[in-house]
Amino acid sequence: MSNMKDALGRTIDYMRISITDRCNLRCKYCMPYGVECVPRWDILSLEEIEAVGICAASLGIRHIKVTGGEPLVRRDCCQLVKQLKGTPGIEKVTITTNGVLLERYLDDLAEAGIDGINISLDTLDRDLYQRITGTDALGTVMEAVRRACAMPISVKINAVSIDFSQMDEKQREAGQDGWRQMVELAREYPVDVRFIEMMPIGYGRNFKTINHQELLEEMMRAYPCMEEDDRVHGFGPAVYYRIPGFEGSIGLISAIHGKFCSDCNRVRLTSQGYLKPCLCYEDGVDLRRILRKGQERPEEEVHYRWPYAGRPADEELQRELRKAMEQAVLCKPAAHCFERPGQITEAHNMIAIGG
Ligand code: SAM
Ligand code: SF4
Repeated sequence: MSNMKDALGRTIDYMRISITDRCNLRCKYCMPYGVECVPRWDILSLEEIEAVGICAASLGIRHIKVTGGEPLVRRDCCQLVKQLKGTPGIEKVTITTNGVLLERYLDDLAEAGIDGINISLDTLDRDLYQRITGTDALGTVMEAVRRACAMPISVKINAVSIDFSQMDEKQREAGQDGWRQMVELAREYPVDVRFIEMMPIGYGRNFKTINHQELLEEMMRAYPCMEEDDRVHGFGPAVYYRIPGFEGSIGLISAIHGKFCSDCNRVRLTSQGYLKPCLCYEDGVDLRRILRKGQERPEEEVHYRWPYAGRPADEELQRELRKAMEQAVLCKPAAHCFERPGQITEAHNMIAIGG
């Protein structure tokens, strides 16, 4: 089994794949109203993603996270999960979703062999949820959480730690201490509730993050029995805590106030087929150019069709993809520079990158 290391000796075995830049929500920090989507032609087809998956697995990627945009708005999402799961070498395929369409696709995802579902949910306040996402869908998402928890699949809730203190009074009031309600979800349901520091990428630049060191201190005061939980929960950088009597654990993903770059294990494939070794910088390799060698972007119909993708396992294609992926991994930067925003070179929105 291959083991891929970057120039600093970090094992790279995790890839996030964004399968669409479309979304059915309009989260203010990610895809506010007015953000345009690219024509479908520009997005990788199922076969093209499959080709990248085969190549990634041959190099040492073991875990794939399917993301977006909202992955479940893409009609072939479950088929894609199934194909990735069937790729020799890939051990786990998980998905991150806003949960709005999840109930409809839960059985298909389970049948496709999904190993875990992350549901993004920043608040349990209905009005604030609507203000953040542009949609009154909290009830629908909570119903999906309940149903997902009843299935034999690992479920995690991801909440971005938005600092509401500088917003209008209504949001400030609703957002303040909102983390308590989120934490309480782990008492009721067997879910890990993870808080993610807001990163200054895309529209995230317009928001302030809650400092997780301060949040942790507040949590410790509210739950004095909370203790570090060193059981393995997944493949990511979250630091977990458990509270006696709770079904699930609490996770903190603190890219800003708890930099974890020295343990980074991931690369990201954007919906347009650009492989990024680090979220913070625009550097990477254009795999779509390799996948579509010789194919010109047609003048018309680009919104409705994908180009012919060839054979995903084609030996020459795989050789070229491998070379490009290895090159990207070797160029992986030592660390992000979120603390020095002037040095961030990534200009794309999260909707294209996939978080
Ligand atoms: N639509 C899906 C969802 O919401 O889970 C998948 C795509 S979304 C871009 C993936 C994750 O990135 C979500 O949990 C979202 O909250 C998070 N995210 C988006 N912008 C962010 C930012 N600037 N900082 C931190 N997390 C962000
Ligand atoms: Fe859509 Fe997810 Fe971005 Fe919200 S965070 S706009 S749900 S892609």
